[in-house]
Amino acid sequence: MDNLKIYSQKFSNLNVSNSKKRGTALHKPILILSVIDLISRDVINDNEIRVSDELIETFEKYWQIIGSHSYTGGLHYPFFHLQSEGFWHLELKPDFNGLQPKTTNRLKKSVEYAYLDVELFELLQDDLSRKELLDALIGAFFPDIDNQIDSILQVNQNFEDEEISKSSIINQPKYTLKKTIIRNAFFRKAIVSVYGCQCAFCGLIVNKTINQNIVDGAHIKPFSQFYDSRIHNGIALCKNHHWAFDRGWFSVDDKYKIIVSKELEEVSPHAKPIKDFHGEKLILPKIEKYFPDIEALEWHRHNIFQP
Ligand SMILES: [Zn+2]
Repeated sequence: MDNLKIYSQKFSNLNVSNSKKRGTALHKPILILSVIDLISRDVINDNEIRVSDELIETFEKYWQIIGSHSYTGGLHYPFFHLQSEGFWHLELKPDFNGLQPKTTNRLKKSVEYAYLDVELFELLQDDLSRKELLDALIGAFFPDIDNQIDSILQVNQNFEDEEISKSSIINQPKYTLKKTIIRNAFFRKAIVSVYGCQCAFCGLIVNKTINQNIVDGAHIKPFSQFYDSRIHNGIALCKNHHWAFDRGWFSVDDKYKIIVSKELEEVSPHAKPIKDFHGEKLILPKIEKYFPDIEALEWHRHNIFQP
């Protein structure tokens, strides 16, 4: 088994059962999200994860957005307990008394730093494997249960509110942009969930094992231009059709009918050619309020589609 698969599995199977109080089960996933966030922002750039102000602040921010509101999060708890997962190790201070730190300040005094398995740290340097690991983590602690979709959407809404309020205070485009790595992972999760893990174009579903998924959450209006990760700006598409949609090989009209570029030349001896989907209806979510936005589709037809 390759390392990416091993760590995706470990992320999906975090042991949160020893959480003593209700609502603490997200401690470990949120610590991992925070670390990935800081790695992607280049705040953590070597494999020595210290109890820094940035880590404390990031953990607390995620706890506020996705943690339990009935229980205050504390970095000290998962920073210590993540050791039991086998990929997170602690370098303790020489005078550490052996007692589990009960506060983040105590934690600071007890550990020099944490470090990840070298193989995992390397995977997290790479955009694609980082994305897959994030999807595994987020997929696992927000399982595909219909009534949980709203909570995922709520998470994304909270990210947006937070970013709007942040950008109105100080202009930090770089920070906001980098932070979207986590937000977009929630976007993908929400889109794939409302479409039942099915490609809206061709209907492909592949049963996932460890939250790896052949179907993606695609932005209709590109994220790099509009920063819009609301559910209405998304369609679930398999990798091929995501790629084709981003390049304007096909688009969707305001009756949700597929329109395919006339310039396409393809040979597809074993699968239905893209051209044959012209005029077919996009496969939509069961719930109408999650349908793609007509205005976003219109924008895609005028700006991306190559008729
Ligand atoms: Zn497809």
